Amino acid sequence: MNQQPIKVPFLDLKAHHEPIRDEIRQAIERVIDANAFAGGPFVEAFEKDWAAFCGTRHAIGVGNGTDALWLTLLALGVGPGDEVITVPSTFMATAEAVSFCGARPVFVDIEPVTYTMDPARLEQAITPRTRAIIPVHLFGQVADMDPILEVARRHGIPVVEDAAQAHGATYKGRRAGTFGIAGCFSFYPGKNLGAFGEAGAVVTNDAELADRIRCLRDHGQVRKYHHDHIGWNARMDGIQGAVLQVKLRRLAAANEARRNHARQYARLLADVEQVVLPVEAPGRTHVYHVYAVRVSDRDEVLQRMGRRGIACGIHYPIPVHRQKAYQHLGYGEGSFPVAEQCAREFLSLPMYPELRPEQVELVATELRACLDELRPRSHACAV
Ligand SMILES: *Cc1c(COP(=O)(O)O)cnc(C)c1O
Repeated sequence: MNQQPIKVPFLDLKAHHEPIRDEIRQAIERVIDANAFAGGPFVEAFEKDWAAFCGTRHAIGVGNGTDALWLTLLALGVGPGDEVITVPSTFMATAEAVSFCGARPVFVDIEPVTYTMDPARLEQAITPRTRAIIPVHLFGQVADMDPILEVARRHGIPVVEDAAQAHGATYKGRRAGTFGIAGCFSFYPGKNLGAFGEAGAVVTNDAELADRIRCLRDHGQVRKYHHDHIGWNARMDGIQGAVLQVKLRRLAAANEARRNHARQYARLLADVEQVVLPVEAPGRTHVYHVYAVRVSDRDEVLQRMGRRGIACGIHYPIPVHRQKAYQHLGYGEGSFPVAEQCAREFLSLPMYPELRPEQVELVATELRACLDELRPRSHACAV
């Protein structure tokens, strides 16, 4: 079968930006007029809005989401010889931030329904060297924070949330990023809130931690050319601050649109027995950064969808503990069976606010058709 032209892209940033093009152009021109390119008033204005949106006292704009995680861990004093617990079902950056502090990532498996850290497995991973716990709000759903925080509190270990995929998601009425000592966000262009380049932020209610991160992102300076610490250049740039401030005003509506698409997918695919749909756990609002279903024979389904003009993705095909870069940690195949099975089965369907209902319908129809083609003959005859 020949490849068809793309009928439904995986993501459509052009459609996302077209209606706000003029407003963004004006925002960027204000930055040019003010010569405020690195940090400065536009970043500060966005920080204020982002803290207000999340419901925290402080937000610190940084260069990207990886910086947000790394600087937060550094500011908490994580260093060589320490361990930081996270999950293998995440983007590489979560573990990299730990490694770049000189510490060792320690993994715990995920829950099979929400795909987030399994609180029941957390305690057994804690050792005297554990310095932080990083649950990841994968795909836009907040991890089960109450039991995670309870275990962490009992052991006196800070919790840092990787909220890079969960802008605006809630758990028991509170926003992602506000449960632990700090929440880390990425504004990579494809995220639910995306910049026009690289950007990230940390939110926290802890004034001292906020000050330390502010200092570290700017070469450890306390005043110009007075460096009390060895920091780094991890500032957010002014254009990103200005663009993010404009785009933040549309985040709630964009998340609502994603949730509508998710409901439509769920309705259309409810009776397809070969598909495991994402589940929104009680008390949480999922913001569907990624709409991942699970299917067996995933790679074949992915290819067939592509041939039918439906661009799907995989988040992520290799769990972090099985990456070559982390071979030295010694986690063999079978170490985290839930994460490993999910990595084999995850298939991300097109998901972005501007999807049209007929596109969602087409994706569902084509997925059904692919699965029918792949249905084992014996299975089909048994009916
Ligand atoms: C995107 C992402 C990051 C990293 O953010 P960058 O801005 O790309 O550095 C970290 N963790 C998760 C879960 C992410 O999805």
